[in-house]
Amino acid sequence: MKPLLTEAGPRIDPATVAFDIDGVVADTMRLFVDIVREEFRHSELRYEDITCYRLEDCLDLDPEIRNTVIAQLIEGSHRRPLEPIPGAPEVIARLSRLAGPVLFVTARPDAGFIEPWLHSVLPASHNGVRVVATGDFDAKLEVLRHHEKVFFVEDRLETCFTLNEGGITPVVFRQPWNRQPHPFVEVGDWAELADLMALP
Ligand SMILES: [Mg+2]
Repeated sequence: MKPLLTEAGPRIDPATVAFDIDGVVADTMRLFVDIVREEFRHSELRYEDITCYRLEDCLDLDPEIRNTVIAQLIEGSHRRPLEPIPGAPEVIARLSRLAGPVLFVTARPDAGFIEPWLHSVLPASHNGVRVVATGDFDAKLEVLRHHEKVFFVEDRLETCFTLNEGGITPVVFRQPWNRQPHPFVEVGDWAELADLMALP
């Protein structure tokens, strides 16, 4: 039976949870907005304007600028640093000390930039991470099944629906682009996630 996540129900078993990276651990869209605002002089752009996952559907932005910045973010060639979402590194380190290496599954085409980045932001006290890059949102399901994960923390709502249909319980990491109606448990920050996992 699928584990239920309700207020009175079971918590996330720390050994059975995995995480998306961009928009959950990495503050990637904040960096997108900062680059567009400062390097492309679109100071009117706000983080809250990103109300959908497909940027072309919600931002009135030159496609060339959009694609240039996205390419920088994928390659890691941006000049400004990518910052972690507040609290993420500390909670991941605590989780790894409790439950062993933490699994991250990203739809990035490769882990070339993001895996070293993750190591660079984690406290030295962590007990291991594993990064799998699928290149495809829908391929996350098989990776999670293969690693016997039950819960996945994700910011892309479409992926949450796909995972749920495949028997993985999604936890929505709240962002301006996932405010459409959904039936899943959601968290607003890493303190809430640590509570759900009952981390000591
Ligand atoms: Mg994401």
